[in-house]
Amino acid sequence: MHPPKKYLILILISYLIIGFFTSCSKTTTTTTTSPTNYYKTENVIIIVMDGARYSETWGEPTHSLIPSIANNIAPKGVINNNFRNNGTTSTSPGHLAICSGQYYNLNNGGGQLPPFPTMFQYFNEKYPTKNSWIITSKDKLEVLANTSHTSYNNLHLPNTNCGINGMGSGYRADDITLNVVLNVFNTQHPNLTLINFREPDFTAHSNDSIGYIKQISNVDSLINIIFNFVENDSIYNGTTSIFITNDHGRHDNLNGGFAGHGDSCEGCRHLLFCAYGPDFKENVVINTPREQIDIAVTIAEILSFNLPNTNGQIMQELFK
Ligand SMILES: [Zn+2]
Ligand SMILES: [Zn+2]
Repeated sequence: MHPPKKYLILILISYLIIGFFTSCSKTTTTTTTSPTNYYKTENVIIIVMDGARYSETWGEPTHSLIPSIANNIAPKGVINNNFRNNGTTSTSPGHLAICSGQYYNLNNGGGQLPPFPTMFQYFNEKYPTKNSWIITSKDKLEVLANTSHTSYNNLHLPNTNCGINGMGSGYRADDITLNVVLNVFNTQHPNLTLINFREPDFTAHSNDSIGYIKQISNVDSLINIIFNFVENDSIYNGTTSIFITNDHGRHDNLNGGFAGHGDSCEGCRHLLFCAYGPDFKENVVINTPREQIDIAVTIAEILSFNLPNTNGQIMQELFK
């Protein structure tokens, strides 16, 4: 009598133990399966309006020079009126800060590769089958595609279409850049794109105040064409975030005026910032102090790739 009873108890205990561990392992499996990406954004477009001063963009109370950004895009996105370049206020260093999350005084003439990779190389390293582009009116910005860092030199490079025909070929007009952008978007739908429109900066350097003002409005209309493309495209609509900003501003009127830039005056530092996308708030104006290096960090967060060596922060206040 005794042995069978003992066996029954042992079998019962075994079932209980097996059942316990089976249910445990099921629970464990479920909880460790985290979503690959929490965000709806699959594609990011950064548009840089080169060298427009804040006092002519969002800082002008009626926003008369940026009607598309103010009336069409801002109601569907977030404006930050407290956004700055806190590094070198020139074209190449400004774009590098936006694209890498690091301030570095890169040679402004295009003669130097960044000593560290931008987010494009980290993005392409993580997602080798995805597609990224740098499309710029200024040829010198092609340096952003590569780095002199030995671990990343000539690896994971984005596609480029810069200036008339690449590095050393000279600047081109912004409407040509727009045509390249629309062609690439239509045929390839890249997942990460940097666009540079040169005209406000280029015209201001010739001390042409009327031309400078006119070119801000012209770039505003080009940005609107890109925005409308994204909203009406079956692949991009609902999956694409857009950042609109400047690489640098221009001297305020007490520090030499609109023709030049490059120092630490408020006119050179203070920038336009607008973010639009499926994960961002709508029709909100915020004044959280933010800066260029926060853009790359925020993009690395929403597209889920690693961006080392940055002091930038995720702009949490943008998110719904
Ligand atoms: Zn300039
Ligand atoms: Zn200045």
